[in-house]
Amino acid sequence: MSDCLFCNIIEKKADADIVYEDEDIIAFKDINPVAPVHLLIVPRKHFDSILSIGEEDAYLVGRLHLVVNKLAGEFGLQERGFRIVINCGEEGGQAVLHLHFHLIGGKPLYHNIAKGRGV
Ligand code: AMP
Ligand code: ZN
Repeated sequence: MSDCLFCNIIEKKADADIVYEDEDIIAFKDINPVAPVHLLIVPRKHFDSILSIGEEDAYLVGRLHLVVNKLAGEFGLQERGFRIVINCGEEGGQAVLHLHFHLIGGKPLYHNIAKGRGV
């Protein structure tokens, strides 16, 4: 999609600090990091959000997790721990409408919204 920022990064029409690429997945540094490590792991195929994936995408979605695992190792996060975030839709705070995983780590992330604190 020509008006999609992440599609433009994937097609090398926009710049990004790319840390991983394969035929289906790309990962790059978040331009506005919230922690020492903040990567975005992105399928090359455009999905508006996690709501757009189907049964046929299960293998790709599984592979996104394997790339998380690999990058967590390369960025020294496997021992320390880290967080994966997928924002979806307006109330989920999704700003870029191309499905992506945030991989965040390198400092303690005490604010645990998934346990109901800070909501
Ligand atoms: P989300 O709010 O989940 O849609 O996340 C979008 C993320 O993309 C934000 O954390 C932004 O900082 C990040 N972002 C926006 N533009 C760029 C860019 N050109 N390169 C890298 N990251 C970006
Ligand atoms: Zn896109």
